[in-house]
Amino acid sequence: MSDPKRIVIVGGVAGGASAAARARRLSEDAQITIFERGEYISFANCGLPYYIGGEIAERERLLVQTPEAMRKRFRIDVRINTEVVGIDRENKQVVARGIEHGVETHQPYDELIISPGADPIKPPLPGINSDLVHTLRNLADTDAIKELVDQKSPSRVVVVGGGYIGLEMAEALINRGIKVTLVEMMEQVMGPVDPEMAYPIHQCLRLHGVDLRLKTSVDGFSQDGETLHVKLSTGEVVECGLAVLAIGVRPEVKLAKDAGLNIGERGGIAVDKNMRTNDPHIFAVGDAVEVTDFVSQTQALIPLAGPANRQGRIAADNAFGRNSEYKDTQGTAICKIFELAIGMTGMSEKLAKKLNRNCEKVYIHPASHAGYYPGAHPISLKLLFDPEDGKILGVQAVGADGVDKRIDVIAVAIRAGLTVYDLEEMELCYAPPFGSAKDPVNYAGFVAANVLKGDSSLCHVPEIINPTENQIVIDVRNPQEVETGMIPKAENIPLDELRDRLDEIPKDKELLVYCQAGLRGYLACRILSQKGFTCKNLTGGYKTYKAFMEIADKEQLETKEMRDDTGSAPPSVGKKELPESPVQTIDAVGLQCPGPIMKLKEVIDSVNPGEMVTLMTSDPGAPGDIGGWANSTGNKLINVEIKNGVYHASVLKTAKKQGARVSTKKKSIIVFSGDFDKAMAAFIIANGAASMGSEVTLFFTFWGLNVLRRPEEVKVSKNLIESMFGKMMPRGAGKLSLSNMNMGGMGTKLIKSIMKQKNVDSLPLLIEKAQKAGVRLVACAMSMDLMGIKKEELIDGVEFGGVASYLNTAEEGNVNLFI
Ligand code: FAD
Repeated sequence: MSDPKRIVIVGGVAGGASAAARARRLSEDAQITIFERGEYISFANCGLPYYIGGEIAERERLLVQTPEAMRKRFRIDVRINTEVVGIDRENKQVVARGIEHGVETHQPYDELIISPGADPIKPPLPGINSDLVHTLRNLADTDAIKELVDQKSPSRVVVVGGGYIGLEMAEALINRGIKVTLVEMMEQVMGPVDPEMAYPIHQCLRLHGVDLRLKTSVDGFSQDGETLHVKLSTGEVVECGLAVLAIGVRPEVKLAKDAGLNIGERGGIAVDKNMRTNDPHIFAVGDAVEVTDFVSQTQALIPLAGPANRQGRIAADNAFGRNSEYKDTQGTAICKIFELAIGMTGMSEKLAKKLNRNCEKVYIHPASHAGYYPGAHPISLKLLFDPEDGKILGVQAVGADGVDKRIDVIAVAIRAGLTVYDLEEMELCYAPPFGSAKDPVNYAGFVAANVLKGDSSLCHVPEIINPTENQIVIDVRNPQEVETGMIPKAENIPLDELRDRLDEIPKDKELLVYCQAGLRGYLACRILSQKGFTCKNLTGGYKTYKAFMEIADKEQLETKEMRDDTGSAPPSVGKKELPESPVQTIDAVGLQCPGPIMKLKEVIDSVNPGEMVTLMTSDPGAPGDIGGWANSTGNKLINVEIKNGVYHASVLKTAKKQGARVSTKKKSIIVFSGDFDKAMAAFIIANGAASMGSEVTLFFTFWGLNVLRRPEEVKVSKNLIESMFGKMMPRGAGKLSLSNMNMGGMGTKLIKSIMKQKNVDSLPLLIEKAQKAGVRLVACAMSMDLMGIKKEELIDGVEFGGVASYLNTAEEGNVNLFI
């Protein structure tokens, strides 16, 4: 009988403990030894923040296995507090040193599995070694942080880094009643997802009182007794009692490197599919190794517990001669931040861009389950796929419910190499409390497949915020939704009015259409394209636009912390003016947009100025929408609180006129006259207002249309009367005459020469400048029809609109002139 196999394992937590348990299951005879530098093996690192926050009450619960239990159940020799300091590959033994006594021993192996993990990054910043600066990796770190929090009760903690450990720590500390400043160098938290998908998390953190500092780094620390001063890149210094550093991890490769094992291009231990290093008897697993990314097939460091556990098992298989292969890492991950969850798998858009990988994306915002069944929450989901064959590349989702299920389903789809067409076909379990007959997964498939089949053309935010001269932006939401804010330059034609207002829309322009979440925009595009218009729908609608613009957070929402710190409400509303409690509370939980806003408007209309109404909603986007709506209707969003995953937004009705969306930045001028001097006046005012930052719209009607005519003759088909009329009217700005003292054209010539002497711009130049300054020139479609003027006869860049479009613009502004 051959000698029992000697398996030595370095590191006794995720990868190491899995490898050890698997090894024992494969061989009752093997001698299995685990060396663990720390005091504990197989503890739940993923649970550490929850223990600090108090959700996990008993420390013992974190100890999944103790050395004693491991010995008893698996007959594994566990050496805790023992560090492996060297690998003697030639003699196939490791050198282990007792942490407490420093005594070194040699342990021979037949097969060695190393799972040393990854170390939190500690950059060489001034003061980084202060005893008030901590990292979180293991139970010893946890005990130190918890002791400090329990005993010193710091009033503020600075968390550095907005990855999942930083976010979980921020939540844990807020739950302990501690103020938190979260400092993140990037423009977003949760680095692996695309920035717009992290936006709801920013909003959620702020609503819970986290002082979130994006695009900010820490320059250093200085300690003064029990106070730590954290110097930020902004020049500010934040005082706190503790800083938790969570800026990422670095694979622990020293042992491997010293032993001559290969290190990969990303800095992790290089292994093959069997988790074998360049030494056939040494395997490496877990956070310390470099993996191949399943989707991009590039090398990556993806430190997650699932891969570490699976790799440990595979390494043990191979140590016993089985041919077990690790099939790459997809990066499937999820993180809870207060009531929200954010999850992802596969490729992100930013990675696709970095790798020059062609990909298309769709955004959807469906409910987690049937909206009519209580407790539905919206999920914002972004699906990335190959525009050629529809193969799914990645998905990201954020929401309060059902995110894990959708990410997991699509993770399996990616693993199986499925396409968006397969998502359409997926049969997933459904009853109202759990999902919808068209599950968000199916829905994502429908939307993406529509794009590939040519049923829908998409546009994305960068395009719709910068339309070209040949594009028009149309908002098909209803008026209440429009009051929450609009994309600049958009015209509002509610979907239900669209069929009756088609004549207001020019056929020679490309239409960029949007609604709140994408569905009505798609319906509008279907109507428009069948009527001969060229049309693109903004995927994800206004909700996705807002996530991109990150507008609603600081300005419109008073954070809990602001109230705590100042004891007062937002600056313009004195505390004394605030009612103690709402006169009415509206339950709009589970309602999809525009439901909550419509309910709010209805109730606000019915209460008296000075009274407060609280709206309860489960939509994480709603607080921003309500802020925008309140601003534009002259009401006041007082605060937003989250209780059990439901947003409670309190709005004060003010004495101002309701429903008026008045902006001091918007000016409109009706140009009725075709007189040279009046047209000059209109353009001088327009250019002046535009230079002062106003959005200016000039409406040209009747004789005013002549200002916009092209100087050259344009061949268009006209009837006899239209042709005669056209010939009698001046063709363009250069041909207009003075309203008074015209003197057979002499007066006009005279004034033009005086303007030249005095360096006043000519009318055509003023028009050109106005267009460059973004002044909208809108020709009245109805007057054009009456006067027989065709679109082709007008200068480039002119929009066409009707009375409704004029009235909307005039209502939104504070200056409206008639010239
Ligand atoms: P580890 O679990 O870190 O184990 C390595 C062990 O090796 C350590 O205990 C170390 O002391 C020991 N060691 C190192 N060198 C030596 C040596 N020379 N001699 C002896 N012993 C040595 N992942 C998720 O997927 N989801 C989560 O929610 C999640 N949450 C997390 C929360 C926190 C706070 C942390 C710290 C991590 C979290 N992770 C999470 C990551 C996950 O825990 C790791 O991916 C996983 O533990 C990696 O396993 P590993 O075996 O490679 O390393």
